[in-house]
Amino acid sequence: MIVGFPRNIGWIEVVCGSMFSGKTEELIRRLKRAKIAQQNVQIFKPRIDDRYDAVRIVSHSRQQLESIAIERAEDLLRHLKPETQVVGIDEVQFFGAEIVPVCESLANKGLRVIAAGLDQDYRGLPFEPMPQLMAVAEFVSKELAICVVCGNPANRSQRIVSSSDRVVVGAEGDYEARCRKCFIPEPVKASAQENLKLRLRG
Ligand SMILES: [Zn+2]
Repeated sequence: MIVGFPRNIGWIEVVCGSMFSGKTEELIRRLKRAKIAQQNVQIFKPRIDDRYDAVRIVSHSRQQLESIAIERAEDLLRHLKPETQVVGIDEVQFFGAEIVPVCESLANKGLRVIAAGLDQDYRGLPFEPMPQLMAVAEFVSKELAICVVCGNPANRSQRIVSSSDRVVVGAEGDYEARCRKCFIPEPVKASAQENLKLRLRG
């Protein structure tokens, strides 16, 4: 919750968390409020993420907003309209390190930047460039999911299909939210219930 927005300057907000934590939902909520306040909003997402829709950002609960799909961080500056005051970026972790100076340049120009992304990969390791982006942001919110195994707050994304590719784009069924106790760092091909049984046995 952000109280007391800065005035007459730009800034960066990072909304981060695991899969199913409601990051995109929170991003959409903030962007909708900016639109209600009659601010000019532009929304970007990586082209790699076409889980639900090629030109919209969509949360797991099907909230959605129109967006521009771009391949590289620098494309954002090319698509930026002069009247834009608020820039939303979804799945920001997929843009790599180049997104950090892009966000900085927007904020330095006086824009409000709201970037949502995964802060940890499926191994539970920091997902660059999120640490760098969080370090230069004015506001950082961590959203938590609910662990599907034990019901505690969850900040890890358990991959339940095998792949060593770090950027397998998440869909329901490929990942589940886990707390630090229930999270197993290696990919496992089993449902939450089967894993729980394994854990109890082991
Ligand atoms: Zn748990």
